[in-house]
Amino acid sequence: MGRSPVAELISPLYNPARERPFRYDLLAWFTIVHVAGIVAIWHMAYVHFSINTAVMAGLLFLLVHLSITMGPHRLYSHDSYKASRALELGIAVVNPGAMQDGIPWWSGHHIDHHKYTDTPRDPYSVLHGFWWAHCIWHLYSTRQVPPSARKLMRKPILVWQQRNHVWLGALVGFGLPTGLGALWGDWVGGFLVGGFLRLVVQYHTTWSINSVAHYFGKSRYGVGTGRSNAWLGPLTAGEGTDHGRHHVAPDDCRIDPRWWALDFGKWAIWLCSKVKLAYDLRRVPEEVVQKRAALLRQTATA
Ligand SMILES: [Zn+2]
Ligand SMILES: [Zn+2]
Repeated sequence: MGRSPVAELISPLYNPARERPFRYDLLAWFTIVHVAGIVAIWHMAYVHFSINTAVMAGLLFLLVHLSITMGPHRLYSHDSYKASRALELGIAVVNPGAMQDGIPWWSGHHIDHHKYTDTPRDPYSVLHGFWWAHCIWHLYSTRQVPPSARKLMRKPILVWQQRNHVWLGALVGFGLPTGLGALWGDWVGGFLVGGFLRLVVQYHTTWSINSVAHYFGKSRYGVGTGRSNAWLGPLTAGEGTDHGRHHVAPDDCRIDPRWWALDFGKWAIWLCSKVKLAYDLRRVPEEVVQKRAALLRQTATA
């Protein structure tokens, strides 16, 4: 399946989100995070470099990415598997370290992204431009949980997480790496590198799924703007491996079932299923994905 010309699809679409109030709070936060991220690099280069801090930041990055892909994404947006209460609690506590609002807020936007892909109602449609899909959409996002996440707001654990994600995020995203850094005498590095620099990379890699994975790479199924980018997999716990397939089979708990694809999320869910933390894993056979893709291509050209 060839690459469909995304550039040709990009037209000046009416963007209803632009009419929402500008999120100065988020602009200020993103600016602080990026400036502090640069200070973190300076700290590592000229003040103190600790290999322990660097490894700890990398592990926290991976853990938080797993909490995104296994939580608001594959579990709550797509019901692609079921999680035990213990796993749900673990995800609810770790996920705020991503500083991407509460799980229902995240999932509500993502449900709409799939429901309205490549239309003006897609909150982060790449058809409004690469940078809109990457980050600008946040600056026009709603403060409320989108109506699409109404069913998630019936789950007490998610209501609790949505209400408390800010202090949980401060604790997991900054308190934890600072405390760990203090164990080997580098609390400043823990705070700057494990907190801010990790968060900068966490933001841009997560955001790449909505921009890069809808803009660059191959379309294996020839449907919409979703793309396959094997290299984006390890940077996003597997999210970016085959985003094109994910748009055809969002109910599959694997983003990319190919054995060599670095989809850490599918392995983590499988491992959890072996210790009874996850169950009812949904897998969509390749022939069904192909049939769905053919149908979607037909509807698109009709
Ligand atoms: Zn997408
Ligand atoms: Zn999805």
